[in-house]
Amino acid sequence: MRQTPLEILKTVFGFDGFRENQQKIIQTVLDGGDAFVLMPTGSGKSICYQIPSIILSGVGLVVSPLIALMQNQVEAMRQNGIRAAFLNSSLSLDESKQIERQVLNGQCDILYVAPERLFMERFQNFLVKIPIALFAIDEAHCVSQWGHDFRPEYLRLVEVTRRFPAVPRIALTATADSVTRKDIVDKLDLSAALQFVSSFDRPNINYQVKLKANGKKQLLEFIQNDHCSEAGIVYTRTRKRTDETARWLQDKGVNALPYHAGMDAQTRQHHQHRFLREDDIIIVATIAFGMGIDKPDVRFVAHLDLPSSMEAYYQETGRAGRNEQPADAWMVYSLADVVAMRRLLETSDGNAAFKRIKQQKLEALLGYCESATCRRQVLLGYFGEAYPEACGNCDTCRQEIETWDGSVAAQKALSCVYRTGQRFGAAHLTDVLAGNRTERVQQLRHDQLKTFGVGDGLSRIEWLSVFRQLLAGGFLTVDMGKISGFRLTEKSWPVLKGMQQVQLRKDPHPFKLKRSVKPSSRKVLEFEDEGETQLFEKLRLLRLEIARQLALPPYVVFHDKTLKEMAILKPQNRTAMLQVTGIGEQKLERYGDRFLDVIKE
Ligand code: ZN
Repeated sequence: MRQTPLEILKTVFGFDGFRENQQKIIQTVLDGGDAFVLMPTGSGKSICYQIPSIILSGVGLVVSPLIALMQNQVEAMRQNGIRAAFLNSSLSLDESKQIERQVLNGQCDILYVAPERLFMERFQNFLVKIPIALFAIDEAHCVSQWGHDFRPEYLRLVEVTRRFPAVPRIALTATADSVTRKDIVDKLDLSAALQFVSSFDRPNINYQVKLKANGKKQLLEFIQNDHCSEAGIVYTRTRKRTDETARWLQDKGVNALPYHAGMDAQTRQHHQHRFLREDDIIIVATIAFGMGIDKPDVRFVAHLDLPSSMEAYYQETGRAGRNEQPADAWMVYSLADVVAMRRLLETSDGNAAFKRIKQQKLEALLGYCESATCRRQVLLGYFGEAYPEACGNCDTCRQEIETWDGSVAAQKALSCVYRTGQRFGAAHLTDVLAGNRTERVQQLRHDQLKTFGVGDGLSRIEWLSVFRQLLAGGFLTVDMGKISGFRLTEKSWPVLKGMQQVQLRKDPHPFKLKRSVKPSSRKVLEFEDEGETQLFEKLRLLRLEIARQLALPPYVVFHDKTLKEMAILKPQNRTAMLQVTGIGEQKLERYGDRFLDVIKE
């Protein structure tokens, strides 16, 4: 008799119960239906196709663009005793053939494939010979140009699945706004599929956005104060900045390694490998890094430059704290970043509709940065999810942001832009407002203007803050001319005419004056007594030893959470050991006794 999904969850994966939607999704697929699944990273997406693949006869085909990740995913499944394999360009023809034979002989339940492979003639001939349990299309947002990682080959997936109309399909993604969502359903022909949308909230992530004063220094302070000897990812926009930042952090004694597409493959691989296998490596990367990284104990993700969109931000920050322990999403940005983003938008190609969607996405990102209210509310709101109360786990919740009526200041600033000919940037405009008779001001006779010197009530830094917020709020944009100054928008006029109020935020100090939270309460693990802490450390050492012997990342052996439970529950025999989260029969068989020995000591 075949096992039920819950039995498999317990015996194979070692979990007691399903999370939101998992069971319904699994049942839908088992009943032969299609499913479209939106579930944030770290909430058990893959179980939704793994369990049906085990139960149904035939092999579950998982399409994933993450070639770098396949091997780890498959290895992690094998550790749980699941018959899984992958086929991608990293294998030799002989190796591929061997795996194909296993599948033909019914010795494989889950097969991961890269999308390109599906279209190869050789593979197509293979497909018709095997019983297919299901098609799982992972990272489904890759099919949409509105997603943050469009891959044209995904558009052709539907050609393949159409040839097997009786095989259930399950498409999964961890991020998509409503436009992208609709696009995925259209492109993958899933209008009849049941949709399952889980909450996008990642309650253990503490969101923080700060003004950039000296980004690298702020980053170092953040790492030293909150994440000493912990794993993290730092994102920067360019390769050059990636290299520079990594080197600078190394000089300051931080275990940082660069990662970007310009490095030779071997070094890149080596850095990624160390990041996965060691506990305290910080990777400094361009946005290229991360897809394909599944490390559960990343304690922070930092952005030294703005991400490209809210989806990208959500995806990138989502790499922190996958083991549900406290983690930080930290970002700094400046007026220059806002100018750069606006310019990128103005220069982008495409028709009006394309630009309008782009524009909305940019507005959303800047609005998030400038928010004076709970960041989680803004972030989840972007994905169409209401979050009724302030979360208490973001910077604007922890430190109230003061706002002020900036209507008059906005009028002065906009008027100054207009009277100087809509050609100048914040530095010169601030000189005019502050009444500074610089060489340039005199040369251009801007000291003759009505707005000259009307702004002496605010400091230079405060004026820069006003310009940044006007630009972020769409009251100004960047001109495309050679000088690239600020220009008025449709939204400027109601403000200039006094018909619209403008609320601005008072920027908090860019450097922390004191630690926001006591370090003790930030400890990832909270034990009752010293004995538990010591036991946990011993279990960690044993895990590291086993992982080294098997050449696996430590978390593939056991997650931190599992070790923590072991240290607290102190199981004395195999039956008790099975009660610990994350220990199924296979892992008990493989490692149980060695961990029991340490606990009994
Ligand atoms: Zn909040």
